[in-house]
Amino acid sequence: MKYFIGNWKMFGVPKSINIIKKINFFHLKDKNRKKYRIIITPPYILLETFSKYFKNKKILIGSQNCYQKDHFSSNTAAISPYMLKSVGAKCTLVGHSDNRSEGDTNQMLKNKVNFALKNNLKVVFCVGENKIEKKNKKTFSVLKKQITKVLEKKFNKDNIIVAYEPIWSIGTGKIPTKNELEETIIYIKKILKQIYKKKNPAVLYGGSVDGNSVKIFKDIKEIDGFLIGGASKSSKKFIDIIKNYYR
Ligand code: PEP
Repeated sequence: MKYFIGNWKMFGVPKSINIIKKINFFHLKDKNRKKYRIIITPPYILLETFSKYFKNKKILIGSQNCYQKDHFSSNTAAISPYMLKSVGAKCTLVGHSDNRSEGDTNQMLKNKVNFALKNNLKVVFCVGENKIEKKNKKTFSVLKKQITKVLEKKFNKDNIIVAYEPIWSIGTGKIPTKNELEETIIYIKKILKQIYKKKNPAVLYGGSVDGNSVKIFKDIKEIDGFLIGGASKSSKKFIDIIKNYYR
């Protein structure tokens, strides 16, 4: 099963549901539809209405983040995994580089993953090196730390997907070479197998994925799908990615 996950970031108002309706319409008629799953993560304010609308449909609605405490607390503007689940979210991103750069620590991320899983949310855990780390050939050591400091053996591995998102690639149009990406995805899978003793953990790629770049990635069989930012805000661009992947 492949995943195409659209991360809307700070984008969307109620009528933006039409974008997902168009994607859903495409998916229903697509001959390849059984091969992949679509998840869209709109902002918090749209989660309830979007989740309700797509409740009995194939597209899943998820959150872009969650707070590192469960149930209710006195933290202003915080949204817990329990609250996300109560409005119908099926999954949540955790550890997006936007949130890491705003102060998310490994301990916070560990709590987020833990409470999200406890509330039966699927977790898309984001990791990735920055430009300087890449230049200094630190990619593997950075990834190893990001993964091993957060993911624990006791976590429900069946509900965790890792998304490799090199920071230098997010929103820049720059993408890793096919070889680089293949090696990195294999490395991440190796680390995950060591933690979970599982044969094939799901690992996605994210960073400037669009209808063009996906053609380069489709030959890398280790990639289990894509986390898509900019191109997920247009139904046409998002659909083009899926079409070109299976072309
Ligand atoms: C992202 O922010 O998760 C992302 C991958 O963005 P983009 O596709 O725009 O590079």
